[in-house]
Amino acid sequence: MRQTDILIVGGGVGGLTLAVLLADVGISVDLIEPYPPEPLKKTKITGRTVALMEGSLNVIRACGVWDSIKDRTCPMQAMRILDDSMRKGQTIDTEFSASNIGMTQFGYNIPNSLLRAALYEKAAKAKTIKIHNCASTEFEQHKGHIVAHLENDATIRAALMVGADGRNSRVREKSGIAVWKQNYNQKAITCVINHSRAHNNTATEFHRAGGPFALVPLPGNQSSVVWVETPEHADELLRLKKHEFEQALQKNANDILGGVTLEIGPEAWPLCSIKAKKLIAPRIALIAEAAHVMSPITAQGLNLSLRDVAALAEIITDAKRLGIDPGSATILNKYQKRRSMDINTRVFGVDGMNRLVSHDASIVQSLRRYGLKTVERAAPLKRFAMRHGLAPSIDAGRLVKGEAL
Ligand SMILES: Cc1cc2nc3c(=O)[nH]c(=O)nc-3n(C[C@H](O)[C@H](O)[C@H](O)COP(=O)(O)OP(=O)(O)OC[C@H]3O[C@@H](n4cnc5c(N)ncnc54)[C@H](O)[C@@H]3O)c2cc1C
Repeated sequence: MRQTDILIVGGGVGGLTLAVLLADVGISVDLIEPYPPEPLKKTKITGRTVALMEGSLNVIRACGVWDSIKDRTCPMQAMRILDDSMRKGQTIDTEFSASNIGMTQFGYNIPNSLLRAALYEKAAKAKTIKIHNCASTEFEQHKGHIVAHLENDATIRAALMVGADGRNSRVREKSGIAVWKQNYNQKAITCVINHSRAHNNTATEFHRAGGPFALVPLPGNQSSVVWVETPEHADELLRLKKHEFEQALQKNANDILGGVTLEIGPEAWPLCSIKAKKLIAPRIALIAEAAHVMSPITAQGLNLSLRDVAALAEIITDAKRLGIDPGSATILNKYQKRRSMDINTRVFGVDGMNRLVSHDASIVQSLRRYGLKTVERAAPLKRFAMRHGLAPSIDAGRLVKGEAL
């Protein structure tokens, strides 16, 4: 039977980031991932990108992968919200600029596939990480350790098992952790477009009667699109011919980026919110989408996940340095206590925001427009909204602040 300190189930961005951080300080990690990505050099960009804020980027920088992908990412220096839901030609146009709060950019827009491939490459080269390319099936929790069984009949014994196996986490289910779940009658269409006008490193979100439509800048004259619709309408849009889909994009983008052509995609993702009622079970901790899933409208999902990763990496590293068992109840309780408030406020906050920006009722539209107008007119309120949107202030540990692990 193999022995390791930390066993991570799931090699998405969440699990890989944790593995690389722990390996860098000499902690032994086994990582289980049945679907490894293509090597970084061959990685194709898909329609899905992630907007990561500065605190999250500090976590990625600590993994030593930022320089290998930075050239294919784009800084977001401003965010613009256009609310034209009243359909009376009275669009409310609010712009938040990073320079207003003394920053060069809010963060960067990064192709998901590139980030994952860069992290995987780093993990595969690390001496203290062993990657198993198969699924984990069962596990047994013991008093002083946990034993996991893999599809290839291997067994691994660890002090702690981390569930990073995504929204349908088996680790979560098998450890008996219940979830709060909210299904939305929505799908997000994602794609990458070319456009004739410059985006000036500005992310733009349209609040429309049908649901939000966001354009997020990529290098050159390209942007990624997140377009929320009812599942029926999203499926109709996906069935359109390329030139018809381009016309629909052009109409939604209100010509702000000039002429538009489709470069990559489209794909569609059903939207829901999930929150695990506990983050821990004996010898188990949940991170990232195994612990929480949100609508992509405020681009918070992976940002929140990277704060889980940073907190758990710090807690495990401190425990190991002090000679404390990293899978003990004391250490796990510390992790749950540290992350609960950030996760609760973000998941329920984004759920409320999703209802607000997707609601057709005129009273809700009026409230939303009134809120935007108020924020636009009051400079301190606007700065507060910007800082709160970036917001790792609830759980800003040393990695999020850019300090060493
Ligand atoms: C349309 C869209 C746009 C988004 N935009 C943003 C954004 O702008 N900013 C942002 O912060 N977030 C965004 N998000 C959220 C972000 O993409 C996700 O939070 C993130 O990719 C999830 O990473 P993860 O590692 O938690 O899970 P996943 O990427 O799902 O990884 C889980 C891994 O576990 C593996 N696995 C599953 N079962 C097993 C098993 N039994 N054994 C072993 N391995 C297993 C899977 O193969 C998978 O690789 C967006 C999401 C969507 C849908």
